[in-house]
Amino acid sequence: KNKTLTVLGLGDMGSALTRSWLAAGYTVTVWNRSPRRAPVGAAVAATVAEAVGANTLVVVCLLDDASVRATLDGVDLTGRDIVNLTTSTPAEARALAEWITARGGNFLDGGIMAVPSMIGAPDSGAYVFYSGSARLHETHAEALAVPAGVTYVGTDAGFAALYDIALLSAMWGMFAGATHAFALIGGEDISPVEFAPLMVAYQQAMAGYAFGTAAQLASGDYTQDVESNLAMMATTNDTLRRTALEQRVSPELLEPFMTLMERRVAEGGGKESTTGVVDLLRR
Ligand code: NDP
Repeated sequence: KNKTLTVLGLGDMGSALTRSWLAAGYTVTVWNRSPRRAPVGAAVAATVAEAVGANTLVVVCLLDDASVRATLDGVDLTGRDIVNLTTSTPAEARALAEWITARGGNFLDGGIMAVPSMIGAPDSGAYVFYSGSARLHETHAEALAVPAGVTYVGTDAGFAALYDIALLSAMWGMFAGATHAFALIGGEDISPVEFAPLMVAYQQAMAGYAFGTAAQLASGDYTQDVESNLAMMATTNDTLRRTALEQRVSPELLEPFMTLMERRVAEGGGKESTTGVVDLLRR
């Protein structure tokens, strides 16, 4: 089997991807908009067309959706297997899939769940969500497994981006909570370095709460196996607000979630857990 591919984009991520394929013995042709130092061993193409023409498998890792279109516009994509590892929205990925296939190319989208230093590092936990062409995912399984783990989530080209951004959104929530917690202890004689392990352990212990939410969403019974009901939690909101006030910390990171919890209680969801808030958001 010929171990050869093209990578468009030599930013931090594109470079890390390229290095991982070179280290695995692949012949890699690269292209970048502006001159950048290419990873040692890569063949630098002078134009996008030359880079795309060099190999069937073309991996794209540029800044955003607009830069992908700007780069591939006018280039002959006939018979090319385009794997897009540029972060985008689900709708952007679906539209790009149509745009690429209309130009004779095949399309697989990917969402990278890692930072560059984790790419090509065994046991780093890095993986990529893929969705779109099942044939591409199968044909290039070996090459795709080089930089990171492969998690294929279906033929809908938008799903990789959706899974990616859903997980990022969950992470934002975690970051927001940690940010508020550090602000609360900030004015006191408490070492953030000593506090951090307590917070991390607690967040890890509570992370499994999502399994309960998932089971309730699946069954439609939001009162199933509720350990801490929403009415109780909403009462705790007041203590969170007054503590923020006492510590001279803005509650603005917590306020939107607390307000939604209270609205759900007001609408009769007091015996549920937080699952009903999902419905409030989807209205
Ligand atoms: P960088 O900012 O390091 O690199 C951006 C790349 O996009 C460069 O190659 C740049 O070219 C190119 N580019 C920007 N605008 C255009 C344009 N209009 N036309 C052509 N090329 C363009 O970003 P990363 O490499 O870190 O990220 C690349 C993708 O990977 C992004 O979508 C990002 O979300 C995703 N990703 C990154 C992660 C990370 O931790 N870095 C983690 C997970 C996903 P030039 O050198 O000419 O400016």
